[in-house]
Amino acid sequence: MTIAVLALQGAFAEHEKILNALKIDTFQIRTKADAEREFDGLILPGGESTTIGKLLKDLEIFDVLKRKIENGLPVFGTCAGLILLAKDVVNDNRKYFDVMDIKAHRNAYGRQLGSFEAISTFGNIDNVPMVFIRAPFIESAGEGVEILSVVENRIVAARQKNILVTAFHPELLPDYTAIHQYFIDNIIKK
Ligand code: GLN
Repeated sequence: MTIAVLALQGAFAEHEKILNALKIDTFQIRTKADAEREFDGLILPGGESTTIGKLLKDLEIFDVLKRKIENGLPVFGTCAGLILLAKDVVNDNRKYFDVMDIKAHRNAYGRQLGSFEAISTFGNIDNVPMVFIRAPFIESAGEGVEILSVVENRIVAARQKNILVTAFHPELLPDYTAIHQYFIDNIIKK
């Protein structure tokens, strides 16, 4: 199994470390040719969705990945990655992949409370440590979306078919592999 990590900006190296710890083959997507390779899953890291979105288009990676995701490629978006996958971002009129039936709210926790940590559940996994950095949350989700985590009454993880998103950053805890393992077991291998 090979999982590609979009490596244009943001916390991509941290995702690669988790995949290495899980002994999963991985490579970086930095060019259109990288995006055209064969792979079993894709990670869209945290960072700045506007920057990543612009680079995706400038480098002509966008259309290649959008087609693959629409054709069922398993994809895991963290934080900015969640914004890139949402069909609707309430406080940003740019659209990116536009594939997941969620309404996301960018920078939802304001500047003062930009970063915080919480412990909550993710599906049936308990005690999941969650790091939020200028994170979005999911304001509402369509019928086909399974809600996996709620923190302070806000949806912070969800899944729709081949698409998994978290508002938090599981990759920032180097020894914590459970969410990546969920992606592998429940979305890639199903
Ligand atoms: N605030 C960023 C955005 O809007 C997301 C933050 C993150 O990925 N840590 O894209």
